[in-house]
Amino acid sequence: MYRLSTPLERVKGIGEALNAKFTEYGIKNVKDLLLHTPLRYEDRSARTQIADLKPGELVTLTGKIIKPHNFYRGRRSIQSATLVDESGKVKLMWFNNPHVIDRFTVAADFLVSGKLGDRGTIVQPTVESFKQDGNTIHTGRLVPVYSAIPDIPAGTLRKILKEVADHVTIDEDSLANSGVDLSHFSSLEESLRQLHFPESETKITTSRERLALEELVQLILHSLALKEQWRSLNKAVAVPLPPKNLTTGLPFELTGAQQRSLGEILADMNKTVPMNRLLLGDVGSGKTAVAGLASREVLKQNLHACLVTPTQILAEQHAKSLQLLFPELKIELMTAQTAKKVVISNTPTLFIGTHAILSRLSDIEPGLLIYDEQHRFGVQQRSATFPLKRQPHLLTLTATPIPRTLLLTIFSHLSLSVIDELPPGRKPVKSWLVPNKKRVEAYHWIAKELHQHKPAQALVICPFIDTSKAAAFENVAAAKTLYDELRKLYAKPKQKDQKVTLALLHGRMSKKEQQAVTTELFAQQIDILVTTPIVEVGLDLPAADIIVIETAERFGLASLHQLRGRVGRAGQQAYCLLFTPSTAENVTERLTKFCETTNGLELAEQDLQRRGAGDIFGTQQHGLDQLVFANWTNLELVTQAKRLADHLIQTKPSWQSPLAELFSAHRNDEQIPLAN
Ligand code: ADP
Ligand code: MG
Repeated sequence: MYRLSTPLERVKGIGEALNAKFTEYGIKNVKDLLLHTPLRYEDRSARTQIADLKPGELVTLTGKIIKPHNFYRGRRSIQSATLVDESGKVKLMWFNNPHVIDRFTVAADFLVSGKLGDRGTIVQPTVESFKQDGNTIHTGRLVPVYSAIPDIPAGTLRKILKEVADHVTIDEDSLANSGVDLSHFSSLEESLRQLHFPESETKITTSRERLALEELVQLILHSLALKEQWRSLNKAVAVPLPPKNLTTGLPFELTGAQQRSLGEILADMNKTVPMNRLLLGDVGSGKTAVAGLASREVLKQNLHACLVTPTQILAEQHAKSLQLLFPELKIELMTAQTAKKVVISNTPTLFIGTHAILSRLSDIEPGLLIYDEQHRFGVQQRSATFPLKRQPHLLTLTATPIPRTLLLTIFSHLSLSVIDELPPGRKPVKSWLVPNKKRVEAYHWIAKELHQHKPAQALVICPFIDTSKAAAFENVAAAKTLYDELRKLYAKPKQKDQKVTLALLHGRMSKKEQQAVTTELFAQQIDILVTTPIVEVGLDLPAADIIVIETAERFGLASLHQLRGRVGRAGQQAYCLLFTPSTAENVTERLTKFCETTNGLELAEQDLQRRGAGDIFGTQQHGLDQLVFANWTNLELVTQAKRLADHLIQTKPSWQSPLAELFSAHRNDEQIPLAN
């Protein structure tokens, strides 16, 4: 029996050399091994007889192996053997794998998994000695496929994991002993076993649920602990409230939602308990303006403030627009290059820059630290200790429409302000689900629109970069393919004066190429940009007024909404066109609903209700996708985890999941500075 903490050298089958390789990869004990979870499974469970073999089907055969031999064809070494069972025989073949045949000399039974090829041979099959008890590793079952570890053959890795999964014992399965009824879940050790070597597909799901529960409980408790810790810090400077009737001095009236949010922020900052608040609102709802107003109050107290942005471009944009709104403030842009050198004066300053700012935090000692996470909502589990004299108030700006329900259950250490109202005069993006037969027409309409309303630009979003060869994905739009298609389409404009310039931008282009396209985009030398959602995040193009989303059914409603938020930034009327190859009724219904709804939070809640109908957080990059097992859309499990966590807080306040490390290792743990 192994414990989670058992070092690898005590595991059967791991010698010194193998141990060294694992160690190099950061795998030191049984727990680390078990947390190397399968990427996917290959179903080699179908058993058949040689006489019933059909080409192309992945099956497992049992029989004796005869005539193993090794030969060369050119420089290639080839291994060949014949498998015989009661029904017939079939030829097996491998390439450059001389060791595979060494073990066939004994007249034992073997299991062989593979597919019969066109020439009546099974090429590169997996072979395993027959086991009386049927407890196989590589054949005759759902077989785990792991991400490769350098210099460790896949077969060896699987064999070791089987050994460990079969013999691990977890006596600290504390959730099971918590007093809450978990009888419909399997135990932690059984779940780990099934995760690696599942008896059935259902077992994969249930074992993942059990592990997800563990993860969620850990996360919720961590959040509760952070909340307690935060309360006890009590080290922030209390910023006096401005007089009630003070005018903002801004060229516009704040919306009701902005006023309310600002009020909540100011009230928090008025305390010595540091603020930890999330300001949530659609792109363009006026979060930055509110952040600027809050900063101004802090600077008035002779304190600095920092605004941390995800990209340098955004830092520059913020510095420019905030300086226009607040000409009286000293605003300083910090780049990765200048961050080290900037002399921090005593004049209260709002520093704006990327994470490079954090390296100077102890010199700046800000009274307020703002994270503009754009679409990336950090999980906020981060807590690094910076050598700060006092704790800054923290404000995180996000456009990720994280449903209130989730926030209250899981991130209880955060308080929430929502800007659910757009500045007046802002026109909602007109959205349509375009029927397939009107697709070409729609692209011509776009060309016409772009010419009628200068300055104007269109973004065309494709889920993939390249067209997938897999049958399940062959209908998913790919940026490269569509780019070529559109080039042909626009080569023959409907009207002479409607020529458009197209460009392609995706993450596999070199940084230099990406930079060149971005520059042309901002210079408005490009009319239509074909791209993927990943690249597009963070591009703030004021002229963009049309967004096309291809294969739109692949996105959650909230993700679609975030994409839609990229157009109409300058207050012009903007349009969102959705295309889908799907004719399924639920797809049409969901996308139509999207076109009719303008509220991002409402869409996120809908995603949550439609569990499985698309991930809320879709393709965006943000802290929430760093969960290992849990899925935010499984509200039932989230609720269950919350109940468990509340119970544990009462009964075992120091509870730690035996797998806790796993759940924190993947989190971004360095951004919340904590004074010591
Ligand atoms: P966000 O940070 O939420 O994306 P911003 O604060 O950048 O939004 O605001 C978007 C634009 O709207 C900016 O040009 C800003 O000056 C302007 N704006 C903000 N609040 C208002 C308001 N209440 N009325 C009119 N314009 C506003
Ligand atoms: Mg913004």
